Amino acid sequence: MLNKITGKTKILGVFGNPIEHSFSPIMHNLALKELNLDYVYVPFLVDDIGLAVKSIKAMNITGVNVTIPYKQKVIPFLDELTLGAEKIGAVNTIINKNGYLLGDNTDGLGFIKALEENLKINIKGKTFFIFGAGGASRAISVSLVLSKAEKVFVYDIDKEKSKSLENIFTNKIISSENIEKDIKISDIVINATPIGMSEKKDEFPFSPDLLNKNQVFYDIIYNRKTPMIKYCEENNIKSLNGLDMLLYQGVISFYKWTNIEPPVESMRKILIETLKNK
Ligand code: NAP
Repeated sequence: MLNKITGKTKILGVFGNPIEHSFSPIMHNLALKELNLDYVYVPFLVDDIGLAVKSIKAMNITGVNVTIPYKQKVIPFLDELTLGAEKIGAVNTIINKNGYLLGDNTDGLGFIKALEENLKINIKGKTFFIFGAGGASRAISVSLVLSKAEKVFVYDIDKEKSKSLENIFTNKIISSENIEKDIKISDIVINATPIGMSEKKDEFPFSPDLLNKNQVFYDIIYNRKTPMIKYCEENNIKSLNGLDMLLYQGVISFYKWTNIEPPVESMRKILIETLKNK
């Protein structure tokens, strides 16, 4: 059941194309309802991102998420970016501050919050290794450096892609030239590739015996238990999947729009239920 909409109801939403797949409306509307907040969160199937952003001001929308294919394309239409969003080069959250549109990115912050909450890990001074240098890796590596990580190694089968991340924070994000050596000196190893899902569901992004029991493995795939996660569970290596990254990017956006802490447990529960029924 939707929240009761009146003339006073404030609007939140998500811009994307396609948009039917998005988990955000279910997660946010549940939180709004549980807190009895007079807001509604609407999915918008957007054809023209410039016009859609203008409509935020024209229609007094409080805030929106932005998803595929507009996370980068939306940037020229915003008034200001947070440092994180600027460095990442992508926006997933817009906050309407009395007609002034701030673009933010909560993907990497969600990744960090999940790590802190679940495994009580403090990012400061830690070394990370990330497989994949796509959109998710970019958000994660920037957020890690901004949270004072010591170093972030990145490896992509397309060398150009991992090399290009080095320019964001020189000497902090490093394109790995020697996977074995760099994994060995990393505290946390991350899979930010699609390996472990869909047609690659039985594959490993790297040889799992490179990991040791003092390390943590974090797979940001959220819709299944990947072979890497199974390996870690069977070999007593601490691990985390991507569900809470997805959850906390939403939790952080919610807070930025409303200044209110949302009900995290209920949001997690509905995410899990929704994923089961996919
Ligand atoms: P993306 O932009 O396609 O990036 C993935 C990168 O990994 C690509 O550059 C890809 O190269 C590279 N790659 C593929 N196989 C590799 C290998 N064996 N070793 C190293 N690099 C490899 O995708 P994305 O948007 O960053 O998403 C990546 C994964 O994260 C997806 O599985 C997605 O579902 C998940 N994700 C989770 C969350 C969450 O909230 N938990 C959020 C965002 C994304 P090619 O393009 O050449 O194949």
